[in-house]
Amino acid sequence: MSTSSAPVPTRPHALPTTESGRRVTFVPPRPRARTSRRVRRRRLALGAVAVAGAVALGASAIGALAGSSGLQLPPMPPVFPGTVFTPSADDGFIDDGMQVSLWDDDLPAISRLDPELLAAMRAAEARAADDGIRLGVTSGWRSAAYQQWLLDDRIASVGEETARAYVATPEQSRHVSGDAIDIGPVDAQYWLISYGSEFGICQTYGNEPWHFELATTPGSECPPMRTDANG
Ligand SMILES: [Zn+2]
Repeated sequence: MSTSSAPVPTRPHALPTTESGRRVTFVPPRPRARTSRRVRRRRLALGAVAVAGAVALGASAIGALAGSSGLQLPPMPPVFPGTVFTPSADDGFIDDGMQVSLWDDDLPAISRLDPELLAAMRAAEARAADDGIRLGVTSGWRSAAYQQWLLDDRIASVGEETARAYVATPEQSRHVSGDAIDIGPVDAQYWLISYGSEFGICQTYGNEPWHFELATTPGSECPPMRTDANG
């Protein structure tokens, strides 16, 4: 797909205004509910303590049983409660609150995106820069393990129904397939919602103004949005 030689449509070099000339006000998205890292770490630590305690209790109960009955039981296998999955940069993880560049090719979050989506986003970025808007990437490609971790983490913090409205399963996630990208800050989201279709880029979930996919032919209208990641 080549958009470099296509004629540039004329449009105002400013964010849209209302008929009266006032700037359209943009209601920022509801911040994603998250659990702080410290709370998550504490939860993990408490979980580990609970597991270790249960293992110790079980072992002593079995030991008592074996001692009283004279049974010879095989030794308990070692348990490592600390081996909990933590997403890394190799899984496409980008720290909470961080934004990376569309040119950070050394990050799998960027390099494992669909090449067509990445090319379209870079073309859009160049045009956005003309309007003084910087497109930052808050999430790109994700490993299936990271997506599952994200879903579990959100379910634990906001409950199943809300979590599933925002986080797809690894099988369904467009991030895992490399076909979706999350953009910030809010002015960049608004710019991409307004002009992304010139590059084939569309907001695809009504409840996620930060989430974009290649969803139309460049220059055509975007298809109707799905309500949320569950719909
Ligand atoms: Zn997304």
